[in-house]
Amino acid sequence: MKIALFGVTTHNLKDIDVEIPWGKITAIVGVSGSGKSSLAHDTLYVEGQLRYLETLSLRMRPWFSGRLIRPQVRWASGLSPTVLVSQKSQTWADATCVSDALETSHHLRFLFTHLGIVRCPECGLEVRASDIADVAAFCAELPLGTRLWVTAPFSRELDEELLRDLLETGFTRVFAGDQEYDLEEPGQQPSGPFSVVVDRVVTREGQQSRLAGSVEQAFRIAGGQVQIRTAEGVTAFSTRPQCTGCGRVFARKTPRLFSRDPETGGGCPSCGGNRLVEGQVCAACGGSGHSDELAAYSVSGVSWPAWQELTVDEALAQCRGVLDAQADPHRLAAASSLIAPIERRLRFLADLDLGGLRLSRPMNTLSHGQTQFVRLSAHLAGELSGVTTILDEPGMGLARDEKTKLKGIFERLIDQKNTVVLVEHDPELIALCDHVIELGPGAGELGGEVLYAGDRAGLAACPESRISPWLMDFSGMPPAVERPAPEAMLRFPEVTVRELTFDEVALPFSRWTVLTGPMACGKSTFLTAVAAAQGRLVAAQRTRNSRAEVATGGGFFPGGVKMLDELSFPRTPHSHVASLCGIWDVLRRWYAQLPLAKARGYDAARFSTTRAGDGRCLRCSGTGEILVDTGGLSQLATVCPLCEGRRYTPQTLEITWRGYSIADVLAHTVREALGLFSHFPEISSRLTLLSEVGLEYLRLGQPSRSLSGGEMQRLALARELVSKQPSCFLLDEPLGGLHPDDVVHLVRLFQRLVDQGHTLITVDHTGWLIPCADLHLRLHRAGDRVSFI
Ligand SMILES: [Zn+2]
Ligand SMILES: [Zn+2]
Ligand SMILES: [Zn+2]
Repeated sequence: MKIALFGVTTHNLKDIDVEIPWGKITAIVGVSGSGKSSLAHDTLYVEGQLRYLETLSLRMRPWFSGRLIRPQVRWASGLSPTVLVSQKSQTWADATCVSDALETSHHLRFLFTHLGIVRCPECGLEVRASDIADVAAFCAELPLGTRLWVTAPFSRELDEELLRDLLETGFTRVFAGDQEYDLEEPGQQPSGPFSVVVDRVVTREGQQSRLAGSVEQAFRIAGGQVQIRTAEGVTAFSTRPQCTGCGRVFARKTPRLFSRDPETGGGCPSCGGNRLVEGQVCAACGGSGHSDELAAYSVSGVSWPAWQELTVDEALAQCRGVLDAQADPHRLAAASSLIAPIERRLRFLADLDLGGLRLSRPMNTLSHGQTQFVRLSAHLAGELSGVTTILDEPGMGLARDEKTKLKGIFERLIDQKNTVVLVEHDPELIALCDHVIELGPGAGELGGEVLYAGDRAGLAACPESRISPWLMDFSGMPPAVERPAPEAMLRFPEVTVRELTFDEVALPFSRWTVLTGPMACGKSTFLTAVAAAQGRLVAAQRTRNSRAEVATGGGFFPGGVKMLDELSFPRTPHSHVASLCGIWDVLRRWYAQLPLAKARGYDAARFSTTRAGDGRCLRCSGTGEILVDTGGLSQLATVCPLCEGRRYTPQTLEITWRGYSIADVLAHTVREALGLFSHFPEISSRLTLLSEVGLEYLRLGQPSRSLSGGEMQRLALARELVSKQPSCFLLDEPLGGLHPDDVVHLVRLFQRLVDQGHTLITVDHTGWLIPCADLHLRLHRAGDRVSFI
């Protein structure tokens, strides 16, 4: 059995036929831009989704309409429901904790809604919302012959008016404390709260309807409250969650309550659930961010805030405890179904040796590897079967021992009769695969063909394969550049960040330092917090130059400090290669000064596709595409019929240079444009840089959304090469998702940045960069202390 896709022409794929065996691990490999994600994501995943969605009734379809762009496949068979786990770097909001990312928070909310009990923070009494049936069931449990009073409690004083009302309605007896009073007796009036006796009965068979009537009456008189008094004591019931001791009204128990949102009653009203007030831990909630009411909820004796503070292992033990505590088989069945999704996720993490992780730990304090495992656990703990799981770069940022654990996850998925597809370049992970599909040979127009498809062993014998030489060793990496001793060092004094204390260390200016180390040793923390802060300090002190030199040993960063991650490469809908590499303004100005443009009064804005006006196509707003609703669940991206994909109005396109309109220029690849603009240093210098970093295949008009992370990274770095101001660049795991051939391009780019006087600090998990950099430091963590070796 297999998944078969025939005649695939999505994006740059060249009418290829692909087969993926069921119940096996398949790797899809290829250089950046060769068509991997066009095949794995835009074809296999989307087609799988559509197959599933199209089985839904027509009523459901509008919910999904417009989200998917139908892949271009002539014929497909053997598809199963498809899950995509993307490992693209994701930034977490400060408040997102492990429990949120693992989705156990969500399931815990339901557990607490159904099984949580709340005790009044003031009186310690259990607060419940009850109905007549609850009271009747309680009375039915009492031994036959028990004398009981059904009473309606009042929390106010018995004044003259109320007394008259009660007597007129026929109620003559009240309790205050354990003292019973007869209101018809003169002078027999209690002070303080009291309860009105609605009925007095001795329990026996066949009096349910009388009791129910009395209880209903008591509920009505006392605004939803009733007390059942026996010689043993008083049991209170309320139709609202209200404390029967002090009368405090509680928020209704719904999943929404279990949050830090003050609106729902769950968040601390003092700090608004933010836990901190002006840099101090909130005194009202002790920093938990929960209201006292929410803090008073518990399941199996463990409060809501205490559940949040548990480690994965402790939470697993608690889950067992909840199930053991259920005596009633119906309640046990309900509890099991609530616990199961929580337990599965926790178990998955515990099996990955992350049982010590606290559920409240903020996601942005975890290492790459830990983050990946939490995400994988959330996605894959569903115990699904017969599903195709596509993992996009699962090895990204993982150390060697972590990759071994990844192997365990894949085997588990295969055992459960799933199909696993990896989009991956890591030789260690490719070695785990049964089947390999390699796309290439180049990128863009030069890619989109199948170079190899078959079992892993056959790959080594395939002469066309670009990946197989790298599976043996990395000797093809560019060696480190010979450089003199650095003139200055950047000093990092001892500092404590996120509970880790980093030893003092000095890194060379105008050199490339690579930091490595095992999982959770603080590599990313050092880079994103310590290096960024110290670097900014040094950059800021440049005006007080002499002091900066004392502090840093002589160098500084006039160009500033730049953390280069996904966030520093913004992808706006209209941005394309020409705008990203900085030639777009020059190009538009060039077109605006051509004689015909000047004669017609066109300015550079006329050639903009972002500005509404007479310049761009009115139909497609300058995108060249129209999304057509196919009536089903998908949209089809079609060429705009008005401009035929050329983005501009015919008048704009009449402005030509050497026979090319501006749309024609955007259709050029970088390589072709270099020939056209060889006499324009402003344009050709930038295009040359793109070509040198291996991006000569990109089209100038190619939208940023179609670029891979690796392509965006190289585009951004190439732009920095233009700057002559020495800067400090920080890169956390820059090799994510890169084919070894692409890594070679990137390393050469790093070395050129250093040639120009820039300083580079990169974190690397792969070990590939060690021989290429000027300095290699290994982070070593002992307890909370991190040293550099
Ligand atoms: Zn109370
Ligand atoms: Zn608070
Ligand atoms: Zn158009």
